[in-house]
Formats: sequence, C-alpha cells, structure tokens
Amino acid sequence: MDTDRKIALFYITKGGFELAQRLKGFYPRAEIVKFHAERVSAFWNKGKPLLFIMAAGIVVRAIASQAKDKRTDPAVVVLDEKGRFAISLLSGHIGGANALAKEVAEFLGGEAVITTASDVNNLPSVDLWAREHHLAIENWDALSAISTKLINTGALRVYSEILIDLPETFLEVSDPECADVLIAHKGRTNFSAHHAKEPLYLRPRNLVLGIGCNRGTDADEIESAVRAVMEAHNLAFSAIRSLATLDKKGDEPGLVAFAQTHDFKLETFTPAELNAVRGISKSEIVFRATGANAVSEPAALLASEADVLLVSKQKMGNVTVAVADMHPQKGKDSKIYVVGTGPGGIEHITPRAFRAIRAADVIIGYKTYLDLIPDLIEDKEVISFGMTQEVERGRRALEIASEGKSVAVISGGDPGVYGMAGLVLEVLKNSDSPSKPHVEVLPGVSALNACAARLGAPIMHDFAVISLSDRLTPWEAIRKRLEAASAADFVIALYNPKSKGRPEHIRRARAIILKHRKPETPVGIVRAATRETDRVIVTNLKELLDCEMDMQTTIIIGNSQTFVFDGYLVTPRGYLEKKGLARR
Ligand code: SAH
Repeated sequence: MDTDRKIALFYITKGGFELAQRLKGFYPRAEIVKFHAERVSAFWNKGKPLLFIMAAGIVVRAIASQAKDKRTDPAVVVLDEKGRFAISLLSGHIGGANALAKEVAEFLGGEAVITTASDVNNLPSVDLWAREHHLAIENWDALSAISTKLINTGALRVYSEILIDLPETFLEVSDPECADVLIAHKGRTNFSAHHAKEPLYLRPRNLVLGIGCNRGTDADEIESAVRAVMEAHNLAFSAIRSLATLDKKGDEPGLVAFAQTHDFKLETFTPAELNAVRGISKSEIVFRATGANAVSEPAALLASEADVLLVSKQKMGNVTVAVADMHPQKGKDSKIYVVGTGPGGIEHITPRAFRAIRAADVIIGYKTYLDLIPDLIEDKEVISFGMTQEVERGRRALEIASEGKSVAVISGGDPGVYGMAGLVLEVLKNSDSPSKPHVEVLPGVSALNACAARLGAPIMHDFAVISLSDRLTPWEAIRKRLEAASAADFVIALYNPKSKGRPEHIRRARAIILKHRKPETPVGIVRAATRETDRVIVTNLKELLDCEMDMQTTIIIGNSQTFVFDGYLVTPRGYLEKKGLARR
C-alpha cells in the first residue's frame, strides 16, 4: 500500500470531481482527469492504476477494447459518486485492483467489492503470492488450472528448493513428482505420467551471471550463449536476477541491450575488486587486455555474495559466462520503520504510520504504547520491552532486520521527540554488521501538539521544549536551558515533569522561570491528552505546585503575552494587535 501512487482519477459529475479531490488528499500524486471514453487509451498500460468515479457500465464499455492480459492490464477500480462501493473491476491480483479497492474503501469509510474466487474463499492468490516472494511465473498457461485446484480442493502441494514461508494452504512435499507447484531454479523435468496436469513453475530470481565478452559482441550472441549455458546446466532462464561484469564493460552496447531487454540489473566491478577474489584461475590474455585476472567468475561471486560458483566459466565464442546463486540474505527487503503512534489511541495515528505497522513482520515497543494499539498488532509477532530498555529495543530491531524481516519500532507521540528514532539510528551507526537495513522514520502527533490543542493555542508563538528528566541529561544542562528559555520569553513546554523518583524538579524549574516571569503567567497542565482519561488544568505559575501531575503529563507555561480566555490558553501571534483590533 502506498500513498505515493500515481492514480488516474476519472470523473464525470461535480460530485465525482469532489470525491476525486478528496482522494487526491490521500494520494497526492494522483491525476484528476475529466472522463471521455477516448481518453482512456492514453492512460492504459502506463504503469498507473485507473480509478473511475461513475457507473460501472460506462467503464466496462470504455475499457472493453483495451483489456488484454492479466499480466499487463492496469488495475481498474470503479467507485460510485458517494464513495460507498469501490469495485475491483480488472486485474485484481497482479495489477493490484483488489488492494486498491480495499484501500480506497477504508479511506472513504465505504465497502470494497471483490469478486476474485481466492479472496472470496479466503485463500491466497498464487500469482500475488509468487510476486510478493520475488518468484517469476514461468508457465502462465498452467496458472489458471492450479488456481482452480486451490479453490476447489482448498490446498496445493508445493515442492521448494529454497527456504520460504508457505501459506497454510500450501502443503510442502518432498517429492517434486507429486507437486502442483515447483519452486526451483532447475529447468523443467520430464515428469512421468503421474502428473495429470502440468505443474506450475515458480522461479526464485536468484541466479547471478558473471559475463565477459569481446568488444563489439552483439546482444543476440550474448543471449544465445547465456541460453546455451543455462540449458546445458538445466537452469531456468527466468531464474536470472542480474548480470555482473568488469567496469569497462558497463557500457558495452550488446551487454547493455541484453540486460535491458530482460530487465536485468547490470553490476560492474573494477579490476582491483575482481582480483581480490581468491581461488580464481588467472587468464594471461584477459589480464593483458583489462588488468583483471579473470572476469566472469569473480564478478558472479562478488555480485551474488556467494562463496562458490554454481557453474564455472563457460566459453562460448566471444562470450564467457559463470553462474552463482544469490546469497540467501542478500537482496531481502528488510526494513526498520520507526513509527510514531501519537499520544493516544488508534484514531490519532497517521494513515501512513498505520500502514507501516500493518506492513511489518515484527513489532517492537514499550509495553505502555503497545497496549494502546491492541487491534493493530494482534496478529503480529510482538516484542515488548520495559521502560529503560531503549538500547535493547534498538539492537533487537537491527537483529531482526538482518534476518530479512521488516520491523516496526513503536514510539508514542512522535518518534523523533524524545523517542526511538535517534536511538535506532545511533545503534545502526555503531553496529559492525556489514549490511545496514534501510530505516524509515514516520512522524506522529507529539504530546506537545496534542496538549496544545487541548488547551487552545498556547504555542502560537516561539516556544522551547524542555524535558525535566535527568536520567540522561545532567540537571545543570536542564537548568541552563530553563534559564535561557525563560529569559528569552519563549513559551515553555515541559515533558517528563515529575516522577516518583524526583518530585523536586518541577519545583526547581518553577523557581527559575519565576525569576523572569510574573506569578500570574498562565500555565496549562494536560494529562493523557487524546485518551479517555484525559485531564486538563488551567492555572498559573503561582499555583502550579498545588496541582497534580505525573509522568503522563505535559506542562505548557505561557510567555509574557499569553492570556486565558473562557478556559483556553492563547499566546497571541499579533494579528489583531497589528491592526489595533485586540481587546484586552
Ligand atoms: N515521543 C513522545 C514523548 C516521549 S517522552 C512524544 O512525541 O510525545 C514521554 C513524555 O511525553 C511524558 O512524560 C509526558 O510528558 C509526555 N506525554 C506523552 N504522551 C502524553 C499525553 N498523551 N498527554 C500528555 N503528555 C504526554
């Protein structure tokens, strides 16, 4: 799911246009298009999903002549003008129309209309599952019979040569002869008559080809050589993931064209990098021409991170080919999301953060915050830590990511405000692990925002945020900051104002602020903002110490301009004063 997608939103009526605009709020990169039947072809197969806000009949007529193949047709979703039903009309699985219809329905509070049999029966879709696991479908002809078998019998027998998590309805078998689905990079086997139907071949795209070639070798010759090597070693062409060669060959036209035709990544290495690979026999001719002892073998090993070759160097005319199997850990999409869940319950989480949590395999967090989002994580692997185990939380996240899983580290409020974001990045900086997972920080509503909103508008002007916890910051630093912020007339927000261990901090902070501000200066005290048990007190510096507060409280202290009105705390920005309109 991503809000980055460039959807084409077609509308006819005014209501349709308004709904399209609402959706654009969710998908900022969407394009709103006034519908004409002739316009649709210009958007077909441009890699964009198409969403039509109109009667389904109009859409069926407009796309009928365009629809060709479920592998290439775009997702088509039809939405009624009120946003009540999102119909997944075309390319439900590979095209992603089912997922889009569900996402749109969730956003609009409507219902997704899904008709694909696997979804209706709560079974995995074989093609989607394959794609999610980076498996290429080799024989599409077999797909529909296999999918029907899954729907009719409720299960499939799967033989796999790689370590892969199978859905419950896929029963792993050890004999390829009785499998409905084969996950392997070996070529097709001539099965005996046991097989009533042709099995479905799924190719893990994990073969890396090291390639060397003479200057001017054309793409056809390279492709023939590669196909011949693959066939001779009973390896599937569709299992190829990428190519690797010498840096100088990175722009060799034939090689570049071959890579582009098949969408293979082409990686290059310098002679020094290639020569550093041990145990490769040296070719004098290659060395004199390039400075590298050898090309295809070390390039395949470097790019795959494998220790041994699957196929050693094969020379076919102007081309040399070596094959290696991608190291299992390499290329996995492990990711660490550091997610802010806001100050309270689920309704204060941003949609983006919500989806990151849903996308993660493992959830890590502090128990108190996890307890606020039970529905969101009930089906996940959850690791909860105590209050002071932040470093352990960060380390564990890194460990899990290095196993190839994606993990969401949960922070209350905003993760970058006294939260987990800095910690995860620091742990990452200090780790020795060679593969660094990608870290994405997702913002949340901080306690500051939630408490300010509850009070009215106290931080309309420059403000300073200070934590009174001296667990990691010496009191002297806190004292200096309180002093400076008070003297400069900042509105001051105090996080971590008081705990059982140190009740005197708020008393000392008040004394410092009182050196620069009047005792009548308004103060707002908010506990558990946005939660059911929230509590708000509007008081002033003089009375502050008589009020109850704890570690779930944030205190906002006004500047010299802040006033109280009807229970609200307001720090004027100066709009009305400037025009002489302010009533004091
Ligand atoms: N990352 C969090 C802050 C963590 S520090 C954020 O951005 O909000 C913990 C402190 O946040 C608490 O001691 C308290 O001062 C404040 N806090 C967190 N949730 C709060 C809430 N719902 N209401 C008031 N203060 C809150």
